[in-house]
Amino acid sequence: MATSMTKKDLKLFKELLLKKKAELAKGIEHIANDALKTSQREAAGDLSAYSLHMADMATDNYDREFSLGLADKEQTVLHRIDTALEKIDNNAFGLCEVCEKKITKVRLKAVPYAELCVPCQEKQEKKKK
Ligand SMILES: [Zn+2]
Repeated sequence: MATSMTKKDLKLFKELLLKKKAELAKGIEHIANDALKTSQREAAGDLSAYSLHMADMATDNYDREFSLGLADKEQTVLHRIDTALEKIDNNAFGLCEVCEKKITKVRLKAVPYAELCVPCQEKQEKKKK
C-alpha cells in the first residue's frame, strides 16, 4: 500500500520533519555542552565558578538528571524523524505501521513522525495500562 499523498504534501511534511530535526539536534547539542561544561568545571576544581554556582547547587543535580533524561527522549524522537524521512523517500509516509491505513493529515501536521493512526495508538495505550 502506497501513500496517496501528493508531492506537495510530502514536500511540506519533509520540511516539517527537517525543521523539527534541526531543532532537536540543537537542543541535544546544548544539553551535551552543558553536561560537558559542568564536568570540566568539576575536573578543574574551579572554586570561583563553584562558589558562583553554590546557590544553584541543589537544583544543579536535578537539572542535569532531567536534561539527560530529556536528551534520551529527544534521541528517540530524532530516530523516529529519520524513519519518517526514509518513509517519504520510500513512498510509505503517513501510513499506520499496524493497520497500514492512512494517518490523518491533521495528526501528521501535529506529529509529523507519528507511526500509528489514532485508533491504533489508542489501542496501544490501553494495552500498556
Ligand atoms: Zn492503525
